[in-house]
Amino acid sequence: MDSVGVAAAAAPDAGPGPAWQSKCPWGAPSTTSISCSLADVMSEQLAKELQLEEENAAFPEVVAAAEGPFITGENIDTSSDLMLAQMLQMEFDREYDAQLRREEKKINGDSKVSISFENYRKVHPYDSDSSEDEVDWQDTRHDPYRADKPTTTPRRGFIGKGKDITTKHDEVVCGRKNTARMENFAPEFQVGDGIGMDLKLSNQVFNALKQHAYSEERRSARLHEKKEHSTAEKAVDPKTRLLLYKMVNSGMLETITGCISTGKESVVFHAYGGKSATEDKVIPPECAIKVFKTTLNEFKNRDKYIKDDYRFKDRFSKLNPRKIIRMWAEKEMHNLTRMQNAGIPCPQVVILKKHVLVMSFIGQDQVPAPKLKDVTLSNEDMKKAYYQILNMMQQLYRECNLVHADLSEYNMLWHDGKVWLIDVSQSVEPTHPHGLEFLFRDCRNVSQFFQKGGVAEALNERELFNAVSGLNITADNEVDFQAEIEALEKMNEDHVQNHGKKLATFSSDGDPPIYDE
Ligand code: ADP
Ligand code: MN
Repeated sequence: MDSVGVAAAAAPDAGPGPAWQSKCPWGAPSTTSISCSLADVMSEQLAKELQLEEENAAFPEVVAAAEGPFITGENIDTSSDLMLAQMLQMEFDREYDAQLRREEKKINGDSKVSISFENYRKVHPYDSDSSEDEVDWQDTRHDPYRADKPTTTPRRGFIGKGKDITTKHDEVVCGRKNTARMENFAPEFQVGDGIGMDLKLSNQVFNALKQHAYSEERRSARLHEKKEHSTAEKAVDPKTRLLLYKMVNSGMLETITGCISTGKESVVFHAYGGKSATEDKVIPPECAIKVFKTTLNEFKNRDKYIKDDYRFKDRFSKLNPRKIIRMWAEKEMHNLTRMQNAGIPCPQVVILKKHVLVMSFIGQDQVPAPKLKDVTLSNEDMKKAYYQILNMMQQLYRECNLVHADLSEYNMLWHDGKVWLIDVSQSVEPTHPHGLEFLFRDCRNVSQFFQKGGVAEALNERELFNAVSGLNITADNEVDFQAEIEALEKMNEDHVQNHGKKLATFSSDGDPPIYDE
């Protein structure tokens, strides 16, 4: 059999009509079995459109190829069975998808309500995608259509053997058996139409196809699982879903199991970690994915945290709101990294992609560690937690040069017999124009929680503030204390105005602030 013969026989009818239904003996998906809610359909359709837009922009040639003629074999080494099989498979898949798209269009017409065959596509759109500021895990991912080591593929297929070579009988039988065994692949896996042909697949081709079929099956299951969750989560917009897809699709995440928390500013998901594209990086077995909401309403009142953070000052004015949301995620990443370096128990950063931050999961078997507010600790543990937090607040201030700025029993988790700090996107440096006020508020929360919790040793908020900052504010009442804090902040601001520079730090031990001249 020659390569043209295989191509012609395996190719589905490119003309109009439901060729994809009649030509595939194993996996003709039934259109009637697609049941989707209106919301699902609408949003998936939107996601697809966005994707197509991106595809068209980034990969015009790929889209063109899908519409174009079959690979003719020119300039391509078709003497290898493996390559040939893969090329055919790919061509078949693309043709199949193109046909699906035509069917979809025909059925949907101009209707506002549409159905999607996306789940039935072979070449998943997210496979052929790449977009602007992507990072490394994408570039190194495995391309299932590219032979890993094409040069080592032995040239012992059907093509180019010629009539002089004696064909071993068992090889032929074995080849036919392999062809028959293709039926064991998942029904959705398209192996081409071999009916009426005496196809004999070599073991190598069979194994490659088998492996491909299994990995497709797993991948498709993963993607499907992901999709179920994401459509359930109305908070996740199509662009975010695309980012999550890519993480799963690249293998970095194994599965996204579900939502842990839906807050005003973020949605947090649990995921099982997969494999890292790079050797040196280890993906934690369980991950938390924090998606910063791209609906901007909730962030408006948080401007003050970031606008005045000098680390972001230059950038703030130039950014559009979408980018500002990304800066929140970026801030959380930087702050977590500082804390990690100081040895403070906190989630470990895995990757940041736009407004999506992946970090290690604090908890086990999909169960997040309880917040301090939800856990009942023994007196002994309560005391232990208190001293640990005092220590962490000092480390945060002195070693990380940070104030948490949203510290309370809501953002501390109890796990492995200790307290873990989370939620640091709003954390600022102490010289932030409101940094000391934020610290004082943190101290108030911590003090009150532990005093109410029966820890006799717990300092009051003013003592705690001084213990953490090293400042020595002597006011013995809340109002005066607050006034002194604001005076210090103002002094810092004036200094910035006059010198264009911040104080390097507020001083320790009650000395006047050290100026960084
Ligand atoms: P928000 O700004 O919405 O409060 P958080 O970072 O506090 O965002 O996350 C919300 C909730 O999600 C937390 O209260 C916690 O229960 C859970 N969570 C966040 N990050 C993790 C993590 N790394 N491991 C386990 N649970 C987490
Ligand atoms: Mn929180």
